[in-house]
Amino acid sequence: MEYKKLVEVYEKLEKTTKRLEKRDIIAGILGECKEDELDKIIYLLQGRVFPQFDERKIGMSSRLILKVISKVSGETVNGVERQWKKIGDLGEVTSFLVQKKKQSTLRSSSKLTIHKVFDNLLKISELEGEGTVNKKIDLVSELIANASPVEAKFIVRTVLEDLRIGVAEGVLRDAIALAYNVDVKAVEKAFNVLVDYGEVAGRAKEKKLGELELVIGRPFKVMLAIKVNNIEEAFDEVGKPALWEFKMDGFRVTIHKNNDEIKLFTRKMEDVTKQFPEVIDLIKENVKAKKGILDSEFVGYDKKIGKYLPFQNISQRIKRKYDIESIAKKFPVEINVFDILNYEGKYLKNEKQLERRKLLEKTIKEKDKKIVLTKKLITDDVSKAKEFFEESLKAGNEGLIAKKIDAIYQPGRRVEGWVKLKSVMENLDLAIIGAEWGTGKRAGFLSSFVLGCKKGNEFLECGMIGTGIKEKSKEGVSFKQLTKLLKPLINKEEGRKVKIKPKIIIEVRYEEIQKSPTYNSGYALRFPRVIRLRNDKPIGEIADLKQIEKLYKGQ
Ligand code: AMP
Repeated sequence: MEYKKLVEVYEKLEKTTKRLEKRDIIAGILGECKEDELDKIIYLLQGRVFPQFDERKIGMSSRLILKVISKVSGETVNGVERQWKKIGDLGEVTSFLVQKKKQSTLRSSSKLTIHKVFDNLLKISELEGEGTVNKKIDLVSELIANASPVEAKFIVRTVLEDLRIGVAEGVLRDAIALAYNVDVKAVEKAFNVLVDYGEVAGRAKEKKLGELELVIGRPFKVMLAIKVNNIEEAFDEVGKPALWEFKMDGFRVTIHKNNDEIKLFTRKMEDVTKQFPEVIDLIKENVKAKKGILDSEFVGYDKKIGKYLPFQNISQRIKRKYDIESIAKKFPVEINVFDILNYEGKYLKNEKQLERRKLLEKTIKEKDKKIVLTKKLITDDVSKAKEFFEESLKAGNEGLIAKKIDAIYQPGRRVEGWVKLKSVMENLDLAIIGAEWGTGKRAGFLSSFVLGCKKGNEFLECGMIGTGIKEKSKEGVSFKQLTKLLKPLINKEEGRKVKIKPKIIIEVRYEEIQKSPTYNSGYALRFPRVIRLRNDKPIGEIADLKQIEKLYKGQ
């Protein structure tokens, strides 16, 4: 196919912001192209020459492109730069200068093919090291010298990795489904495994989207968990009994082992193998399988006291390109393995959660603070799960993940198989024991409220709340409604401040508990938010100080 055709598609895509139109335009060209052009077109539509799982880049700077444009157009580099300042887009600059040149030389228009453009771009990205700069310049120059003005524009934009036509993943997915008359969900599932729309399109065309495998050495989209708010909700989602695991606060890494060749990928599919040299040896020594894919969380810990550290502390290791050994010593990680997806070359596609966990237990030789299995509990008991949750928080973790015992591993999906329960503190039911009259548009209404917990028969302040309350009472708790309920309970007024007899209970969500001298309980809730009125609850059952102290210690 001529490159011209693809450029016509680029132009059409550039002109519309409508998803469906974009989809139809792309489906159109997919329907027309030859088999050996399909993946190239898909990559070029995304302004790339590699699939998404592949981090490699075309890798030419604007500086180099200035030289290319100068070479092809006969304009000086300074002249090109002036145009760039004026027009702002090097693609447009190229187009303009190529046009000017063509008018003077009257050269025939382009004969560039998709293959030619793609192959030159690919060659550029494969050139590395010294002495390759000129070769790169030659490869782009060759394309531009043979391109029409508008083709030149898109070639330059592609080389600069700034195509600006807005083909989102979802649009590509829908276009593939439409072009080959396959289910959108099937396309998405395949993409989560392959992370390569080029290959997905090829398979969609041949109606082979079903037989997919995770490949050792190639990253994929990891399975994700849905958020739940409490243990009961978790059981509702994943059933009883469930496999509960500590939710570690580190970063997700999939480990690929092919004999002595180990690769590590993050959740965003970055290859971080080089960043974790110490992990490579650990895996070689402690994973009892020649081949396999493991799913894990790398968690940092404090070397002196052995306690887990929050994610931020070790996040530096992911990006680090130099002094890797020293940063590895400073921020050691413990590998917490929680799943196995390939064992000795077999993709465990249909193996259920518990089966995989058992296999994992046989496969990993645990070594404290080096490589361990994520702590687990299999239970159908709410209070046991609660204890486990507290235990996890005490150990410095984020909470728990509950897994359906017969869930299969579904790459890239947030499905009901896994749910996460974070330490966003459990909601507290508290009494309103004071308030302030509002001003401005809230004049005449009580607008912020003092929260109270109990200590024996006493009520103690533990924060102020004004968030989560609606202006109108159509849905949820409103200022008007609260004022009506609380006004008869006012027992002292001082300026705008009032004291209120504890009778009205609200359920409150918050981010954190802090020590605070401002309130007589000694604690304050941070970012509290009204969830609902608890008029079903007797006042004696609101949160007491002990509970708040316990939550404070556990967080
Ligand atoms: P979130 O980042 O809040 O969506 O939580 C999901 C993340 O928790 C996953 O991507 C993992 O990185 C992490 N995680 C920690 N422990 C586990 C575990 N036991 N099972 C699965 N994911 C876990």
